[in-house]
Amino acid sequence: VPALLALDGLRKAYRLPHGRTLKAVDGISLHVMPGEVLGLVGESGCGKSTLGRCMLRLTDISAGRISFEGRDITRLRERALRPLRPRMQMVFQDSSASLNPRRRIGDILAEPLHVHPDAHGRRRSAAVVRDRVHELMELVGLPVEALGRYAHEFSGGQRQRINIARALALSPRLVVADEPVSALDVSIQAQIVNLFADLRERLGLTYVFVAHDLAVVRQISNRVAVMYLGVIVELGETDSVLHHPAHPYTAALTAAVPRPVVGASHATALRGDVPSPVERMAGCRFHTRCPHARDRCRAEEPVLRPIRAGHEVACHFPLADD
Ligand code: SF4
Ligand code: MG
Repeated sequence: VPALLALDGLRKAYRLPHGRTLKAVDGISLHVMPGEVLGLVGESGCGKSTLGRCMLRLTDISAGRISFEGRDITRLRERALRPLRPRMQMVFQDSSASLNPRRRIGDILAEPLHVHPDAHGRRRSAAVVRDRVHELMELVGLPVEALGRYAHEFSGGQRQRINIARALALSPRLVVADEPVSALDVSIQAQIVNLFADLRERLGLTYVFVAHDLAVVRQISNRVAVMYLGVIVELGETDSVLHHPAHPYTAALTAAVPRPVVGASHATALRGDVPSPVERMAGCRFHTRCPHARDRCRAEEPVLRPIRAGHEVACHFPLADD
């Protein structure tokens, strides 16, 4: 089975004043297979959101390659990307900015259906759009009667259902969800994660699910990629990565969860903050915070290598599986 999305050596740098550069994504290679849910975790400032935006070509990339459905989309301009947009969608964290406050929900959901032609390149009729909008409300568990209301008349959880419905309007294959439940009450988070899981099943969707909450990621992901300072430091099947972390950073993240995902003995709480991605250090990017750092860690950058079946880690001294 070919990958739905493939990243090869992907980099995204931002130029800053005084000739400095911020390397938000600093060399990422990754495959996302059809139907899977890849969880992308790490503290804020590690480049998760930038990577998500790069994946969907919502931004230009600096180096490397991206292919979607087997097609190289690395250098495509907006005009050439336009016909692909329906198949690759993003869901953002619910914020007051995510839904236009002056438009009714029915109009918000209808908009992509009016803007993009159907699969045969034709404009959709008003009746087709109306039926699809009703179907979308049903899919996300909202009553059709609510279509005439405005965003502020809904709860945070309901607004996120609307965001999801809008992303699904054009029947995408790939959905990148960037912290889609982080702004919600804990009691609502599980409902929305369950909705994502149901929709994946019903519609055969593929997700990249960005979150800093490991409990959320564990609930929905088949695989997990752990990001630190622009690179992936650990990648593998969810249970393997979260229950038997081999990278000290992952171990620290799992230990920081209020209800620990693991009972890992080597798990120590994270010390200090993520260093600036502008001042690029030599060696392992995690060495300033790693309790296991040795001389080699300060000199040589570790690369991802297999540690067990379906599990890779970028660390010179991976933690033993105990
Ligand atoms: Fe820690 Fe060294 Fe592994 Fe980096 S390479 S995570 S500093 S042990
Ligand atoms: Mg983010």
